[in-house]
Amino acid sequence: MIDFSLTDEQVAIQNTAREFGQKEIKPIAAELDRIPDPKEVFPRAREVIEKGVKLGFPYMIIPKEYGGLGADHRTIGVVFEELGAADAGLAGTLGISNFAFLTLLLGGTDAQQKKWFETALSDKDGLFLASWAATEPQGLGMDTDALWEGQTRFNLKTSAVPDGDIYRINGEKCFITAGGISRICIVLAQTPKGPSHFVIPTDTPGFEVTKTEDMMGHRTMNDVELFFDNVKVPRENLISGEEGKGAFELMGILGYSDAWVGALAVGLARAAYEAAREYSKLRVLAEKPIIRFQAVGMMIADMAMQIEAARALVWRALWSNDTMPVPDTKLSALAKVFASDAAMRVTTDAVQVYGGAGYMKENPVEKYMRDAKVTQIYEGTNELLRILASTMIYLGM
Ligand SMILES: Cc1cc2nc3c(=O)[nH]c(=O)nc-3n(C[C@H](O)[C@H](O)[C@H](O)COP(=O)(O)OP(=O)(O)OC[C@H]3O[C@@H](n4cnc5c(N)ncnc54)[C@H](O)[C@@H]3O)c2cc1C
Repeated sequence: MIDFSLTDEQVAIQNTAREFGQKEIKPIAAELDRIPDPKEVFPRAREVIEKGVKLGFPYMIIPKEYGGLGADHRTIGVVFEELGAADAGLAGTLGISNFAFLTLLLGGTDAQQKKWFETALSDKDGLFLASWAATEPQGLGMDTDALWEGQTRFNLKTSAVPDGDIYRINGEKCFITAGGISRICIVLAQTPKGPSHFVIPTDTPGFEVTKTEDMMGHRTMNDVELFFDNVKVPRENLISGEEGKGAFELMGILGYSDAWVGALAVGLARAAYEAAREYSKLRVLAEKPIIRFQAVGMMIADMAMQIEAARALVWRALWSNDTMPVPDTKLSALAKVFASDAAMRVTTDAVQVYGGAGYMKENPVEKYMRDAKVTQIYEGTNELLRILASTMIYLGM
């Protein structure tokens, strides 16, 4: 029996995230979004990021025994919705560590989990973030034909070559969220026995941030290109201790995190809807509020409908991921696709409801529209996720 009612603890965390988002993030989001040089964003956002770190948002997935929140997927989902409603970019910066720590939870040995979770949570600086680097300039090279046979194959150029007690890592990664401000980066690299994840402390010699991306939206989020120039990591940093587990771990990350991204998209759509709804009541033309023009009223009703439907599907996927022993990869993918497509439509319509004012930077909705676009692209493009879901349907999964 599906139950979407939240526990008292979940409501408390939701309220904390909402208050933090609305009182601390939202008032500065527009100003941060307008900073022309992306390198200057982090120093100006640092204080609010530190507050989010103190509240534990990067550590939601870390089990309580290590000092994390030990949150279930529904809790993580409601937090992503609240942070996404405040600012999608900062939601990404604060949330991405959970994707990286999830890799350790899915594949890490007990010793690896203990070491890295405790290192993160005992950090005194208050800014221990983790990033996750899979994407490469030539793409991940995912073989979509192999998916029809139930296989996951990648063509990675980043290599990890064993050499005695160490691995030597060489290659490039691109579009990496928080890669320029994280303390550790979980990197997917090709070993002789297949793709594998490695924990790389970002102060390791040869780990270079070569570019900070200047983006259309999510401008408050740190997003970078990375270069690995003969980076040496000890063998103990190979997640799971065995080569060739990276594809399994990557599919597990998508299986869980796509529902989180869906929740972020719902929050973003909600923010645009709330702005458009209020504007449509206040903007008076021909002596009536524009919501009473049927064309506008129907847009507002459609926004509400798409948000409710997207949230219901996202929560269904989160619930499934909480109750099943393995991630519900198909449902998570479908929830992410549906919610991000809904966010794109809702934010675009919000600009339409505002008319010419919606196109102006002094109003909030053009930013929401720019922010929404990448939710259809990151964590698997919506095309790739639709293909993944269709192969799972074909295979009866
Ligand atoms: C802001 C941002 C943050 C990101 N954060 C991270 C991060 O933290 N870590 C990380 O590893 N990555 C991250 N990414 C990368 C992101 O996941 C990729 O951009 C995304 O998966 C698409 O890959 P690509 O950019 O190489 O596009 P491409 O693979 O070049 O795709 C181009 C187009 O072709 C389509 N396409 C590609 N292959 C197929 C196929 N087989 N069949 C049909 N259509 C196909 C795509 O859907 C798309 O429309 C981030 C990206 C952005 C923009």
